[in-house]
Amino acid sequence: MSDTIRVTVEKINEQGKVVSKVVVIEKEISKPEEIIDIGFRHSEQVDILKSIQDEYISQQSIYFKEDLDACPRCGGKLCKHGYTKSDFHAVFTDHKIPTCRQVCNDCQWRSIPSIKSLFGTNIHPDLGKMQSEFGARYSYRDAQSILNKMSYYVRKVNHHNGIKQITQLVGKHIDEHPDEIPHDVKPSDELIVQVDGGHVKTIEDQRSIEAMTSVVYDAKNIEYKGGRVKDNGDVTEIRGIITSKSCAASALSDNQKSIRSQTLSAAKLQGLTKQTKLTAICDGAANCWSVIDSLSDECQSIERILDWFHLSMKFKNSGLGNKKLNEKLDGAKWYLWHGQVEDAISRLEELKQEVTKDTKKVNKLEKLLSYVVNNKNYIVNYDERKNKDLVFTSQMAESNVESLINQRCKGQQHMKWSRDGLHNILTLRAAMNTYTWPKVWEKHVLFGLKKAA
Ligand SMILES: [Zn+2]
Repeated sequence: MSDTIRVTVEKINEQGKVVSKVVVIEKEISKPEEIIDIGFRHSEQVDILKSIQDEYISQQSIYFKEDLDACPRCGGKLCKHGYTKSDFHAVFTDHKIPTCRQVCNDCQWRSIPSIKSLFGTNIHPDLGKMQSEFGARYSYRDAQSILNKMSYYVRKVNHHNGIKQITQLVGKHIDEHPDEIPHDVKPSDELIVQVDGGHVKTIEDQRSIEAMTSVVYDAKNIEYKGGRVKDNGDVTEIRGIITSKSCAASALSDNQKSIRSQTLSAAKLQGLTKQTKLTAICDGAANCWSVIDSLSDECQSIERILDWFHLSMKFKNSGLGNKKLNEKLDGAKWYLWHGQVEDAISRLEELKQEVTKDTKKVNKLEKLLSYVVNNKNYIVNYDERKNKDLVFTSQMAESNVESLINQRCKGQQHMKWSRDGLHNILTLRAAMNTYTWPKVWEKHVLFGLKKAA
């Protein structure tokens, strides 16, 4: 006989006396032969949790009744009439919970409540939060699978249809009930705003939906900026975390109304005032700049910078398939890295002359040239900014903007979106990526759960 470990749940009364005791699990203490023998297994952990929850909830069940002084039909006296069981879904475990039945002595009217009828939902908000966050991050079917893996058992409550419903409702509620800017936000002297756009396929027709995202942060909130940059501006490594940021996103076709107002809110969450100096980092798209322009009355000044990431990507995608030509192309990029736009333009013109017979190369160079010419007012001395530790590329937050649209919405080739469905997902993803989420999620999730019930 070896020793045993025993987990019990005790109920202690006001006088400190143990009044009930339930054994949850007993297990022989054995020598672990393998790593897998250490501690409780996943299924055991979930079972233990379920038993403990069951004990605690059954002690709470005296409170699970309709709050009535008298019969709502005849005014007669109500009497307790046993218990009835209804479903409750906690984060990892499902429960059948007793609720108190009441009956009227005079007219036989009955109250048979359930957790859902008493609380508006039978899903704990902590589970609703995980469902909607995973639903916004992964496909609904993947979210279902992950949640079931975590809770060990396959649970009906994690069915992908339910996850879809709650995810969409939470996103919609955030969109329709934006959070107020807290009063204690500290004014910021300088903020960085990045606006980006992307296209996602629709179910409605063959066209794609344009979605836009913004990220706003204070340069003070970047931990270790810069990363490794080669002489020609090739960013080989960006290491840095933005410790506090605010995001906005929209897929609506509303002449930028929503993305503009949400970008403004995101900036205010970061401490935007009329004295704030803004640095805007965008790719060359006109619709991105117009979101930036809409902030001009709300701040002291805006410095507009063409995103080095997009600029260098254009060069990467314009490779001419010839070492000598590519070296010249790199030269043009070197000029841009140092803010010498005119030199870069003449270099590209020269190159064009060299390849006149090759229409493919000419086309590539013309596209690149028009991109540079159209954005030349926003091309700065990136090298200098880098040396001064000033932001010059969206790469630090790009993973964010990108992932907001791409990771969830573009990744699955077969996945096609309705405009509203996409908008709700993006709204939720933006909220999750904003620093206030831990404080504001509860009311949005609770609303979604009650609406879905
Ligand atoms: Zn009655």
